[in-house]
Amino acid sequence: MRRCLIYLDEKAPRDSVDLLEVARQIYADNAYETTGVTFGPKSVVAVGAFDTVIQVSISQIETYDPLAIAEVLVELQQIRAFDTILVPATPFGRMLAPRLAMRLNTGLVADVTAIRHEGDQLLAIRPAYSGRIMAAIEFVGDGPVMMSIRPGVFHWDRPTDKNTQTEIMTPANVCAGTMRRLAVKTKEQTYDIRESDVLVSGGGGMIGHFHELQRLAQTLGGQVSASRKIVDQGIAPRSIQVGQSGKTVSPKLYLALGINGAVQHVEGLRQVKNIISVNLNKNAPICSLSDIVVEGDAVTFIHKLVEKIEQEAGT
Ligand SMILES: Cc1cc2nc3c(=O)[nH]c(=O)nc-3n(C[C@H](O)[C@H](O)[C@H](O)COP(=O)(O)OP(=O)(O)OC[C@H]3O[C@@H](n4cnc5c(N)ncnc54)[C@H](O)[C@@H]3O)c2cc1C
Repeated sequence: MRRCLIYLDEKAPRDSVDLLEVARQIYADNAYETTGVTFGPKSVVAVGAFDTVIQVSISQIETYDPLAIAEVLVELQQIRAFDTILVPATPFGRMLAPRLAMRLNTGLVADVTAIRHEGDQLLAIRPAYSGRIMAAIEFVGDGPVMMSIRPGVFHWDRPTDKNTQTEIMTPANVCAGTMRRLAVKTKEQTYDIRESDVLVSGGGGMIGHFHELQRLAQTLGGQVSASRKIVDQGIAPRSIQVGQSGKTVSPKLYLALGINGAVQHVEGLRQVKNIISVNLNKNAPICSLSDIVVEGDAVTFIHKLVEKIEQEAGT
């Protein structure tokens, strides 16, 4: 029986549980069991989805300290000898994964977006050279196989009716913290574009009119997102950027307004169900990926669509 450990990032429980889909694709038809490990409170979303959930109980460790957490995971690995260790490539996961790989003396494939099998060989796929190519990386050595997984690419939507065993781990070795929290600043309340079913997204063609997207998004019950062109101009925050250096999104509907469809942007759209693009140029790359293409001015499109929806709703 193969054993897979998944690090549960308390700040991104959904992204963490989604790594069960990666485990399923890695092991295909082979028998395997999954263990989730959390340093935060018991993860409600993990119960029923994992075979085992280990909750690490330690007051000496700060949950923002990747070195201290890596040290505990090394101890866990020495006891359980997992074949595979998966970490979500969240901001904290990106700090933790390389430190843990180094301590375990194993390789790490970072920011994986797909899993492939060639014969007996397991390949981890990730973007390389600024997303111009997808690199297939094979694992050599004794392992464990370690990957960090790009959030929003894999989705676990299978039944969560397992009789999950919950264990408490009290580590023997706790390394003295290398970080100290000086102050805590509360972030302004923002939304997460990865959780929205409808995204109204603006690009270079919306410069000067980006604020108009909000009204359409509100009318459709969705959220606003943006291409990097808009973010680089300081018109929208990086947190709503879609694409390779932004977020991978999976809405049911993605409205691409004045977006050309550069390869780095499209990289974030692979899980989108329906794309409608509005562009002055019907030969823009995004149009060939779209279910519906509207050739014309995006700003006029917004005004007409909002007007039509409001008329129909009688508002
Ligand atoms: C390492 C690296 C990482 C990157 N990561 C990302 C990323 O994560 N996300 C991302 O988006 N980009 C990313 N980029 C940038 C990417 O290459 C493109 O430069 C960017 O996506 C272009 O944005 P755009 O399509 O919105 O703008 P433009 O390229 O300016 O395209 C504007 C489009 O709007 C159309 N248009 C113009 N006016 C109107 C109008 N009035 N109505 C309708 N249509 C109109 C035009 O025909 C055109 O198709 C990255 C680049 C690099 C090198």
